[in-house]
Amino acid sequence: MLSMAVQQALEIAKALKLAECIQCGMCTGSCPVSAKVPLNVRRIVRQVGLFYELPLEPVEALWACTTCGTCELRCPKELKPVEAVISLRSVLVEEGKIARSIAEALESVFTHGNPWGRGRAKRLDWAEGLSFKLKHASEGAEWLYFVGCTPAYDTRAQEVARALAELLNIAGLDFAILGKDESCCGNEIYSMGEKGLFEELRDGNIAKFEELGIERIVTSCPHGFNAFRNLYEGRVANVLHHSQLLSALIDEGRLRPAKELGLKVVYHDPCFLGKRNNVFDEPRHVIEAIPGVELLEFDRNRSRSLCCEGGGGRMWVDIPGEKLAERRVREAAELGADVIAVACPFCLITLEDAVKTAGLEEKLKVMDIAELLLASIKGPSQA
Ligand code: SF4
Ligand code: SF4
Repeated sequence: MLSMAVQQALEIAKALKLAECIQCGMCTGSCPVSAKVPLNVRRIVRQVGLFYELPLEPVEALWACTTCGTCELRCPKELKPVEAVISLRSVLVEEGKIARSIAEALESVFTHGNPWGRGRAKRLDWAEGLSFKLKHASEGAEWLYFVGCTPAYDTRAQEVARALAELLNIAGLDFAILGKDESCCGNEIYSMGEKGLFEELRDGNIAKFEELGIERIVTSCPHGFNAFRNLYEGRVANVLHHSQLLSALIDEGRLRPAKELGLKVVYHDPCFLGKRNNVFDEPRHVIEAIPGVELLEFDRNRSRSLCCEGGGGRMWVDIPGEKLAERRVREAAELGADVIAVACPFCLITLEDAVKTAGLEEKLKVMDIAELLLASIKGPSQA
């Protein structure tokens, strides 16, 4: 009779075809966090896939993974090493061997539908101060703006949610929101290994979309975009990230950036938009459409972009040591950028924190592409 641990390892190995691994080390070699913590994804694949062992130590290393997907992109055998990490987290979650901060985030999703420990009644606070009245999806609309937990509750990310809503209104888009009926997309819950809770969220969200006849969705978070696109079993048909929709609205002449901003802007590719979903051009198109903006590029850009360390549940796990976001903001300052443009609420928060830690607040701002675009349409003072 096989032990429980061997059985679990066998199941993971089989589901992910880990025996096909050739131990080339491309995954570990490309992993952005392996240089600072003992996370060796090649070794994990070997132990699970070849020896049927569950390498749960050191546990901290497993939680350092940002699920950025770089290892998956680089693997010559088209394996998914990141899914092995997530599966090992699932074992820890099942056994209750998780940090208090992770347990609290998961409990909050279960109770309130968001990982931030905030009540459902506050989910619409972000919309205060909008210049127009928002519609609820039950009134019927062509598009659903799925706001997401972080833009709904984080005070800085709320500004982006407002900027995007203003832009969609200016463009004359028929859109609505779910307001207090919106629940977590589940992307981070999946990444944290709580697959049962993720499935509940997925099925609940799909049922809501079907009940309300929602046909098109725009998200302001690449993590929700990724969940709907890749984790919802193809049951959500038309979903765009806001960079894609804004880019199209500019091309259609429905958004006309006119005011010169006079800024040097460097764009930071979010992992869940770029590496994981191949959306590289549209955010750049939005930035380049703004008059008086010079678009700069990081040396590590597009599929080589450096992770900000905000994904994969890392917003709820503190890993000591220098943050990659701190390295990123120093690189931006060296390039002479005035603004780091982002298209993800986690990148916004981690990079803004890093700007403060690095003492660069006087020189460098972090702005979402929606905020930059609105500044060019309405004027910088109103952005
Ligand atoms: S990159 Fe792929 S084949 Fe190479 S060691 Fe990692 S999992 Fe194995
Ligand atoms: S997903 Fe990213 S952080 Fe996690 S193991 Fe792969 S390369 Fe490393």
